[in-house]
Amino acid sequence: MIEGKFRSREVIITFAHLPAGYIVSRLLFNSVEQRITSYKRYLFWGLFGAVAPDIDHIYLLLFNPRQPDHHLYFPHYPVFWFSLLFLSWCWLVISKKNEQNSSLFFLFSLEGTTHMILDSVSRHIYWLAPLSSRIFSIEHLIHLRMPWFIERYPYWELSLEASILVWAAYLLITDRNAGKIRARLTARAD
Ligand SMILES: [Zn+2]
Repeated sequence: MIEGKFRSREVIITFAHLPAGYIVSRLLFNSVEQRITSYKRYLFWGLFGAVAPDIDHIYLLLFNPRQPDHHLYFPHYPVFWFSLLFLSWCWLVISKKNEQNSSLFFLFSLEGTTHMILDSVSRHIYWLAPLSSRIFSIEHLIHLRMPWFIERYPYWELSLEASILVWAAYLLITDRNAGKIRARLTARAD
């Protein structure tokens, strides 16, 4: 029953990964714009990084359906993503200011790290894996520290997800990103 509840809530927050990936890509873009020659490629690696950790879900469904928790696989280990983030940041710092691949790698790693945080909202993540199988979830933490919050706002995760969707839609619509950004990149290339 509890597992079922967690699963349904995971499905809820899962829908936030791609919009969140878009937001992170957009927020980072101004800082790395000078390096980007293809915005499509940039966005592809951003959105791919946002859902990349869930590749282990496909592996689980195909090869190990009895394993109930795909968060036990290394693509859901925070240490894996923070290591990638650190390495990509080092590459970004030492690379030339117009070098694109380092910024794509950094974006991909940042998106995967954000995925770990989002997954920790409604479901557990093994934050100390592989050293420890101790789980951590923000919802559980709120249950322990502020049970009144859950009682007053039982659908707070839904509100969070809705906020992410609205924010992403706002960026997409008001900026009319593709057109504006393409125009900026084209103008720079001229
Ligand atoms: Zn996940």
